[in-house]
Amino acid sequence: MKLNELNSITDRMSGTERMPVLFLGHGSPMNAIEENEFVTGFRKVGGEIPRPNAILCISAHWETQGTYVTAMQQPRTIHDFGGFPKALFDVQYPAPGDPELAKETQTLIKKTEVGLDEKWGLDHGAWSVIKHMYPDADVPVIQMSLDYRQSGRWHYELAQELNALRRKGILVVGSGNMVHNLGRVAWDRLNEVGFAYEWATEANEKMKSGILSGDHDPLINFRSQGKAFDLAIPTPEHYLPLLYTLALQEKDEEVSLFNDRAVAGALTMTSVKVG
Ligand code: ZN
Repeated sequence: MKLNELNSITDRMSGTERMPVLFLGHGSPMNAIEENEFVTGFRKVGGEIPRPNAILCISAHWETQGTYVTAMQQPRTIHDFGGFPKALFDVQYPAPGDPELAKETQTLIKKTEVGLDEKWGLDHGAWSVIKHMYPDADVPVIQMSLDYRQSGRWHYELAQELNALRRKGILVVGSGNMVHNLGRVAWDRLNEVGFAYEWATEANEKMKSGILSGDHDPLINFRSQGKAFDLAIPTPEHYLPLLYTLALQEKDEEVSLFNDRAVAGALTMTSVKVG
């Protein structure tokens, strides 16, 4: 490596103010190309926070055995869904990768061995929301995978090890949905914003109260919170990114909610900003 390259990395990674941390409820992939209140919310939060040097995204849509970070120069746009209009498949989000950040993340995490991935890219959990915040695709993005074998506690503790990145201008984004039960979605009421089944409201309200009070333990132990949580989290992948966001909250930090609405009975778009 040439000395000037080394300098530019050092500069870029030198101390910054503490970046906020986000959890974004991504909902339907159609949010990538629609204009609606959720998209407005993503855009607004993008305008409120300092411009990041790069983004580290933990998406519901990348589950692996083990933990990986994307390490390619130019991640591809992955269209990991079916049955949507061609316009959605035509979307490209050509944000660059950030191999240096991938290596830095790999070094930072002690809890487990982190692999450098060259095959994944950006899945729709990442690009469908980040594209509204940074439409010019000029902020580098890397993803970190979810090890599907691990518990809520394990993910929360792993996430805490990412804290140092916040002072290097890195925006950590968890992307999922707090309440996400596709088996219970009212498909005939898909466009009905605000409609939630009773259990969905109950779970979402409990989650919000844990988030706002900083009482994370019940949220980490989400499998022992009763029926409403079990229905809201039939499989954990859309919920776990929330734990990554909460784990990075420091004692003195404010937390706020936005896009706090249900869709089609069994999904909530509730999103969180820490800092
Ligand atoms: Zn999803």
